[in-house]
Amino acid sequence: MIDLHTHTVFSDGELIPSELVRRAEVKGYLAIGITDHVDFTNIEHILSCVSKARYLEEVLDIRILPGVEITHVPPQKIAPLAALARKLGAKIVVVHGETPVEPVRPGTNRAALEARVDILAHPGFITLEEAELAKENNVCLEITSRSGHNITNGHVVRMASLAKARMVVDTDTHAPKDLIDSNRAVEIAMGAGLSQEEASTIVNHHAIFPSGVE
Ligand SMILES: [Zn+2]
Ligand SMILES: [Zn+2]
Repeated sequence: MIDLHTHTVFSDGELIPSELVRRAEVKGYLAIGITDHVDFTNIEHILSCVSKARYLEEVLDIRILPGVEITHVPPQKIAPLAALARKLGAKIVVVHGETPVEPVRPGTNRAALEARVDILAHPGFITLEEAELAKENNVCLEITSRSGHNITNGHVVRMASLAKARMVVDTDTHAPKDLIDSNRAVEIAMGAGLSQEEASTIVNHHAIFPSGVE
């Protein structure tokens, strides 16, 4: 299981990184992205904290990717914040997309795709044109196990499939119960309309680690 979208107590998650990673290890994770919510006010603090979680790599067989989820930042400010995140060492840059269950500003999906972030999380009713931009700019579109955000998974899969954009399954974990194993990740992708073969390919040959985690 590779999951590149999770939260800790440094934003609105329940666990500190060490417990999150231990619980992920028990679920069979090979890699985990720790991507707490950021804007221009807290990004230095978050990246400084989550980067320290890499100490666990010295003793565990799990790859830890410190990152950020750019959340409710006005679209015009997403590209400069994504650039700052990279400069500060973020290994994964996620943007909190236009989920239908929160008042995310219209234009957020497009701004994330133009900024060439790694993952556009829960992109809601993404348009085909945006999915084509995701393909062009190599941005992964997220299929999410998170309740609420997951109501548009079927739509996201349809648009991503038409555009041949890359897809990833993430949990957006905030609490221990949110972590899943790879079988459940395959089921979530199949529930969103992919065949078993397509779902297994996405989960087992992850778009960001196509040949496996080193
Ligand atoms: Zn959150
Ligand atoms: Zn999130």
